[in-house]
Formats: sequence, structure tokens, C-alpha cells
Amino acid sequence: ILEVKELHKSFDGHEVLKGISTTIKKGDVLALIGPSGCGKSTFLRSLNLLEIPTAGHVLFEGTDLTDPSVDINHVREKIGMVFQQFNLFPNMTILENIMLAPVKLGKMTKEEANTRAMELLKRIGLADKAGAYPAQLSGGQKQRIAIVRSLAMDPDIILFDEPTSALDPEMVGEVLAVMQELAEDGMTMVVVTHEMGFAREVANRVMFINDGVIQEEGTPQEIFGNPKSQRLQEFLSKVL
Ligand code: ATP
Ligand code: MG
Repeated sequence: ILEVKELHKSFDGHEVLKGISTTIKKGDVLALIGPSGCGKSTFLRSLNLLEIPTAGHVLFEGTDLTDPSVDINHVREKIGMVFQQFNLFPNMTILENIMLAPVKLGKMTKEEANTRAMELLKRIGLADKAGAYPAQLSGGQKQRIAIVRSLAMDPDIILFDEPTSALDPEMVGEVLAVMQELAEDGMTMVVVTHEMGFAREVANRVMFINDGVIQEEGTPQEIFGNPKSQRLQEFLSKVL
């Protein structure tokens, strides 16, 4: 579904991504781990061209997104993204937040979007919050809303950048549970995370990025049970 070839990204001459290549298949749940500043967010944001690669290619369902003639906004309709800071619109109700993109982009009528939004809210047990504003919700609730908002567009893949890092510890579990359910439903997901439990139990692949390169990649068993590089061993000894 997604193919990354020799991806490079520099900021003002400082090379952050130094040639990353990988393939993400339908149904993959890929956890990205690595030390702060190693380029995880930059890599994730390059996948939907929120960062423009300095060199290399990103192919999404066969389309090369780095080709300037590609309508990136159209492609992004199929690539959901969930951020650490939720990014809900504060002046809109929860229902309006979820309905906005599908209606605005002409994917659904208002009625269809409303029905779909209520279905999604029921699924996460927050139907009673449809008329509330983001400020009236807990962090965990806001993040679950942000996840179903991306689902409303019926994406083929969802990118998550540390979705639980801004949450109080007692709310982390409810967000991870929604993500786990999505994974079990077969959603393709790329998740930058510090939650090693999630990486170990939900992801089918784990990628350790260090200093702008993929230092090591494998199944959770390989990465956590048998880390090969010293860098990864050191990293795991700090985070586990
Ligand atoms: P963290 O775990 O702290 O979120 P990260 O692995 O996500 O870290 P990135 O945010 O990808 O790291 O940043 C990698 C490097 O790129 C950092 O040195 C950062 O300062 C730099 N960087 C990121 N975005 C920009 C930008 N827009 N302009 C300049 N430098 C940037
Ligand atoms: Mg980051």
C-alpha cells in the first residue's frame, strides 16, 4: 500500500532522514520507535508529504507522491493522521468535527455524514458527547474522537504520531484500546509510539530508527526478544 524508497530529508543543510526504504503492506501495524530527535515524526510526516522529501520517493497505492503533478490533497483523503495534540476544532461540536471533512470534500451528504459520525461515536461509547465541544472532554476522549474523525473519511491507512504522549496515564489505556480494535479490524497503521507494550502486543512490525536511518526492523519478538544492534539494546534498556 505504501512504498518508501531512499527517503532523505534535510532542514537547512542538516540531514534528518538519511535514506529510509521500506514497504508497508495492507493490514500492517508498524510501530516506529527510537530516541527523541531521531526523525520519527519527520519520517511519518513525509509519508503524506506534510514534509517534502529532499530526495527519494513515496509511493502510495502505486502513485508517486513526490511527483509534483500529483494532487496531494486528493491522496490525503485516503491517509488519516492522528497527532499528539488531537487538533480538534475548538469552535465546533464533536459531531461537527467528525462530519466536517467528508461533507466539505463532497464524500457524503450531511445526512450520511451525520449517520456515520453517530455510528462511530457509538462504537467508542461517546454518542452522548455529540453535541459537546472539545474543551468539555477529557484528553482520552478527545483523542478517541480524533481517531474516529479520521475514520469518517474511510482511509486506507492511518498515521499516528505519539497519540498517547499528551495524555494523563489513566487515559492512555482507553486510546490504545481503540487503536487495538482498529488493528484487529485490519486497518493499516503506522504508529510512532513510546508505548512499548503497544509495539510488542499490537504491532506486527517494529522499526527502530536511530540517527535518521532504520537501525533495525523486525517482528516484535525479534526487536524486543533478540535485539541485534548495541544501539537498540541501549535504547530498550532505557525505555523498558
Ligand atoms: P521526538 O521523539 O522528540 O518527537 P522525533 O524522532 O519525532 O523526536 P523529529 O521531530 O522528526 O524527531 O526531528 C528530527 C530532527 O529534525 C530534530 O533534530 C529536529 O530539530 C529537526 N526538525 C524537525 N522539524 C524541523 C523543522 N520544521 N525545521 C527544522 N528542523 C526540524
Ligand atoms: Mg516526534
